[in-house]
Amino acid sequence: MRAGFQGVDMVRGWFAVSALSAGAAVLLAGCSSEFELRGPDEPKEWEKTAVAELDHYLGLCSENRKVKIGWRAAVFHVGDTAFARAKGLSPDSLADEEWCIKSFGRDVVLVGGGTRGTLYAVYHFLEDDCGVRWWMDGDEDVPAAKPLKFGSLDRRGKPFFMYRDIYRTETSDPRTAVRNRLNGNGDSRIPAELGGGFEYGPPYHCHTWDRYLPFARHGREHPEWYALVNGERRGGQSVAQMCLTCPGLVDEFSRRLEEFVAQGEANAAAKGVPAPRIYDISMNDNRNFCTCSNCAAATAKFGHSGRQLNFVNAIAEKAAAGHPGLLFSTFAYFHSEPAPSNGVRAADNVVVKLCNTRQNMAAGILDEDNRFMHDQVLAWKNFTKNLFVWEYGITFGVYTGYPFPNEFSLLDKYRFYADNGVKGFLIEHETPECSDMYELKFRLECKALENPFQNAEEIIGDFMSRYYGAAGEKVLEARRLIDRRRRERKAFIAWFPTLGEFNFISDDDLAEVERIFKAAADCVKGDAKREKRVERAYSSFGRLVEIRRRFGAKHPPEKGVSDSPFFDFPAGGRGFAIRDRRHIDYVKDPDLGDPLSGGETVIRVKVSDSKYYSLPFALGAYNPDSRRSIASKRWEKPLGRGYRWYSLGRVTLPEGSFYLYATRAWTVQLPISLPGMNGNTFEIKALVKFTGPMFFPGDTHSNEIRIARLVYVDSDS
Ligand SMILES: [Zn+2]
Repeated sequence: MRAGFQGVDMVRGWFAVSALSAGAAVLLAGCSSEFELRGPDEPKEWEKTAVAELDHYLGLCSENRKVKIGWRAAVFHVGDTAFARAKGLSPDSLADEEWCIKSFGRDVVLVGGGTRGTLYAVYHFLEDDCGVRWWMDGDEDVPAAKPLKFGSLDRRGKPFFMYRDIYRTETSDPRTAVRNRLNGNGDSRIPAELGGGFEYGPPYHCHTWDRYLPFARHGREHPEWYALVNGERRGGQSVAQMCLTCPGLVDEFSRRLEEFVAQGEANAAAKGVPAPRIYDISMNDNRNFCTCSNCAAATAKFGHSGRQLNFVNAIAEKAAAGHPGLLFSTFAYFHSEPAPSNGVRAADNVVVKLCNTRQNMAAGILDEDNRFMHDQVLAWKNFTKNLFVWEYGITFGVYTGYPFPNEFSLLDKYRFYADNGVKGFLIEHETPECSDMYELKFRLECKALENPFQNAEEIIGDFMSRYYGAAGEKVLEARRLIDRRRRERKAFIAWFPTLGEFNFISDDDLAEVERIFKAAADCVKGDAKREKRVERAYSSFGRLVEIRRRFGAKHPPEKGVSDSPFFDFPAGGRGFAIRDRRHIDYVKDPDLGDPLSGGETVIRVKVSDSKYYSLPFALGAYNPDSRRSIASKRWEKPLGRGYRWYSLGRVTLPEGSFYLYATRAWTVQLPISLPGMNGNTFEIKALVKFTGPMFFPGDTHSNEIRIARLVYVDSDS
């Protein structure tokens, strides 16, 4: 089912349709109780698909193609048919994306507005009335064939949000998107056969300033267009912004915009899809704004976002006359996150996009942890008619694919957005192969974008029972347990989480989850498809079990000392190599961790017994391949009593192998290299305690050095 549009099923459908094009009403089956399909005399590309999809799926879920409305065999009129028109129903009589399912005796009209409305009518009929589910590319459930019988049908609807885009992978099947009523599919565009999508025109959908007037091309001739940063005119996507108050720059942008619009319309016409609805005019992806006197004055008066909006508004207002239906989007991002001051607001055709990068991924929008985004929406809705949000369904970085239950509050979040006037979303939800509970979360996102006022519990319940069958209740039990733990322990899962952030799931919890999943697997034994699905639902937990087994990280580092460790190696995680078993062992230290359980496991170096452990104390990083020191540092005396962080400083790790060491004799080593370390720069720190008279005259403890953990901290933080 991962085949493209030329798949066998589609071709079968299109043969049927080619006969329809000839003007004949095709009876797809001979028996009078079999359903009939009728399309338009001259079907559009998307109408052909609508007929083919209905034929394929209705054929699968009806026994011998028997479908009745009341006592008579059903006749489906799909798209812009003469029958529907005679009943006053046609694409023109419906709003864009509006869909309608209506029976007249045994005749059923499936029609919709715009290019996708008819497809939505067909998909709603198949999903709501026939029970078909499209979970993911190549992963669907069609009910066992049986004779189908319906009473009268009369429903219509329209997706709530204007723009509904979920970015999965670069090549995700757009059929999955449209079957679930999305109108965007990331960079894998929706083709004409599926009615096209809600598209951004060229040059791109975000961070576009440098694509309008690239610094590399114009910087030498027109330095004045670009940002004055530290006394120098600079530009480029990752380097600097533009000088938005520069006279004439609006005209230059407008000229380029006209070229892009012409190009966007020509491309769409060539592909047979609707023309782009929106063009982006947003800042480059960096924090270096212009500091020239005019820009500084504009920033002081209107704020960064106000200065940006004045610029984008001027371009959008010029474009409005020639392109009355188009929207122009810009970001409130980095320095321009705060709303503008002194009367600036977005023009009516300007879209402001907010990015929810600071959220607790596992918490609801009304949770205190997510107050920033909550307040951003409340603030910005007063400054624009068109608010879009860039959302995230995944956690990025090294710790992608670990469990964070956000499914129970997901609908609430989109309801909040709906209540506050947000109109569109791009949801980044990459890495379907390993992201936590991907199919459920994707389904909830699709449902939330189509209608955020649906009941989340019903959607989750339907998913659990359909997707996992008899194992559904068990899978749900495990997810609820972890959600409860997250709340009880007030865990914060950032979009680039550290491993320590998943410590809200204790080893006991993991054991309990494993027990539940074993029971779940038993419930579906022999059902290979569902066994695999249950295994997948467990995989994010399994990943956590595995990484803890490898080098466990059970306690996040002290707050305020190292807030964003990318890698966290507690002594108890068994990641260390001890090169001197005579003088070094592991003990529990009640100064750290939970004193009731004896405290955290630390490495103890018994100093009195060996001359190698007198001061200075040393930390370092070493490359055994090149036999070179990468970094080293010595302390002639302890930084103080108790546990203190000893920083090796910022270290750029080599592409090859390396290890960290502690003590002057290099006898405590951490030989673990993980993806994301090589070639990157981190601050490396050790949490160390010194005791005894050798370090503090008069101290009555024994002479020891205790090493609790090593952490790699993101050097940008
Ligand atoms: Zn400037």
